[in-house]
Amino acid sequence: MAPSLITTQPTVQELKINVKSGHGTAAEAIEAAKARYVERNPASLKLHEEAIKSMPGGNTRTLIHTSPFPVFMKSGKDYQVTSEDGNTYTDLVGELTAALFGHSQPLIQDALISTIKDVGMNLSATTKLEYQHAALLCSRFKLDLIRFTNSGTEANLHAIQAAKHYTGKRKVVVFTGGYHGGCFSFPEDKPTINSVDQHEWVVAEYNDVADAKAKIEGSGDIAAVLVEGLQGSGPAIVGSRDFLQQVQESARKVGAIFVLDEVMTSRLAPGGIQELEGLKPDLTTLGKYLGGGITFGAFGGREDIMAIYDPRSTKGLAHSGTFNNNVLGMAAGYVGISQVYTPEVAIKANTQGDEFRKKLQALSHGTKMTVTGRGTIIGIHFLKDGKKELASYRERQDDHDLKELFWFEMMEDGFWTHKRGYIPLILGTPQEELDRFVKNVGDFLKRHERLTKL
Ligand code: PMP
Repeated sequence: MAPSLITTQPTVQELKINVKSGHGTAAEAIEAAKARYVERNPASLKLHEEAIKSMPGGNTRTLIHTSPFPVFMKSGKDYQVTSEDGNTYTDLVGELTAALFGHSQPLIQDALISTIKDVGMNLSATTKLEYQHAALLCSRFKLDLIRFTNSGTEANLHAIQAAKHYTGKRKVVVFTGGYHGGCFSFPEDKPTINSVDQHEWVVAEYNDVADAKAKIEGSGDIAAVLVEGLQGSGPAIVGSRDFLQQVQESARKVGAIFVLDEVMTSRLAPGGIQELEGLKPDLTTLGKYLGGGITFGAFGGREDIMAIYDPRSTKGLAHSGTFNNNVLGMAAGYVGISQVYTPEVAIKANTQGDEFRKKLQALSHGTKMTVTGRGTIIGIHFLKDGKKELASYRERQDDHDLKELFWFEMMEDGFWTHKRGYIPLILGTPQEELDRFVKNVGDFLKRHERLTKL
């Protein structure tokens, strides 16, 4: 039986810590914030104590676990989420980019409801919905051919296997700090223990032009190079144009397949980050919001590579997956891209994101806070040296205490943020809420000036 975290009535001394204050050490401020957290979220605590009986740690997605226990969300509407404890937050987690459309976009709701009613589920067949979404994504992201998967992880898995099959080579170059899915994670200079194909990765330094060139051109037997144009798990560390162009050029030079992971970055422009950076990947992997909020993934690109999946050929590779073409994702994704996230909306949203990031950056001067990102994807860091430009996770000397305190206190202000400091914006988040966040971040920096000042 796990120990109970339920607190008894607060003592007089404890009551004193029931308001946010800039007094005391970082550890004391965190302890006080934690006590307030426990007090504000009793229903979540109860649910957590039940959840740990059937799931390890009460969780099935490591990234969203938080200590001392997670807040349980009950519902979401538009840009907000409401917890089981009755607290409503402006959602700045945005399902790590997948909730671009928010929680109740009317056109997507209609598409889902009418699909359930009029189409029915699990048709065990090819459908018009599938072709229509495929054609739209091919034209939007300049892909010759596309295939759907269940997730971004699977999209990368298949893209890599396609590259290996096509080239007859074995190794894959990836980059430090990269994340390509649950079994493709390179938070440091080697794959995590749960990554697949442990021995076939060559890990090069992200944003290091010379190292990318050396590793891609000098390692031999390279089937693919897999890279993100902006590293989501950075959080939001932007790839430089020189670096990305070098990756593409070196991959071409050695006949490796250049795979651009746009699972997160495709939302940064109508045609994804490749359009912004003038890249022409051989294969692109996609996911998240492109299924309209339903589980989704896709990979596509050059016709000659994708043709290996042509089931009309006896030499083809099989690519199966029960839910690859699930009608809900196909319908919701199609409506989301054709009617909601049109090219004009994509440009506008990313401009709004750039402005929001700049306002936060303006607050960060002289503090340990650093704000990175591009368009609607923003990263807030608290760093011991306050370094303002980050080219790699290696340059990040995290101030873990400040990071944690920020998360606790932003939540108290009504902002649902990810502990990592990753902020992907949701369409339709009111400008007043973004402005309120900027103000509250400023207040946080002032309130804890002794801890946040450089
Ligand atoms: N690639 C990138 C860049 C991602 O950010 C993610 C998910 N965070 C994935 C792949 C994996 O996608 P999924 O979670 O849908 O498997």
